[in-house]
Amino acid sequence: MFVLRNWRSTIFVDRVLRPSRNYINSITGQPSETGMYIHAANARFPKLKYYSNTTFTEFKCWNCQTVSDTKPSLFCKTCTLIQSNEQQNFNYFELFNIDNQYDIDTEQLTSNFRQLQNLMHPDRFSNKTEEEKVLSESFSSLLNKAYTTLMNPFLRGLYILNIHGLSIEETSVTMDNSFLSEIMEWNEKVEEADSKESLENIKKDVDVVLLNLYKELSRAFSEKNLSRAKILLSKAKYFTTMLDKIKELDM
Ligand SMILES: [Zn+2]
Repeated sequence: MFVLRNWRSTIFVDRVLRPSRNYINSITGQPSETGMYIHAANARFPKLKYYSNTTFTEFKCWNCQTVSDTKPSLFCKTCTLIQSNEQQNFNYFELFNIDNQYDIDTEQLTSNFRQLQNLMHPDRFSNKTEEEKVLSESFSSLLNKAYTTLMNPFLRGLYILNIHGLSIEETSVTMDNSFLSEIMEWNEKVEEADSKESLENIKKDVDVVLLNLYKELSRAFSEKNLSRAKILLSKAKYFTTMLDKIKELDM
């Protein structure tokens, strides 16, 4: 999918580019070739190892009307007021200024999250205009969502797949029969568990299985093997669902 929507404000580039299709070069305003555009994308987002699904935002500051054509930003570079996160497409990794990859430094992420959370906290905007208050609330919820996503090894994997335009919808992944019968056995064990202790033990075993799946997932992503990552995440989904069920039963 290649969507060119109102190029003066936003240009979306998805993973499947159509080389034959011309688009407007956002700098010169002239139609140009896909390759050049990708080149520009790389130059503009040097930290983005994956530039698919990257959104270039050229948006107008709601306050001073300055048009910005740089990376998504929190504050206007001209009038310094808080900007709308909804009009910009933040890549979660870029938002927290960490490497765009599966293996992340969670301490760094947490520390950067806390700084940003503090910077954008609605309390800091209590004396500001209504617009700024609304924007800070919206930013704060984006920060929480992005942080929760990146901290969770399963959600982080799904997010990276999503950046590449992929998902683990049931229709798109077929699991082999041996895996499915393995899952059935696990589910039977959960259903037959007759004490808190036996549930706890199953939970521990599931945690180990997940930990190993995430290790494999890390390898798949570092080898840029997205189809493998998709299968691993689909498998992990069965086990995260199982954990939810155990939690329910344990209450
Ligand atoms: Zn401004």
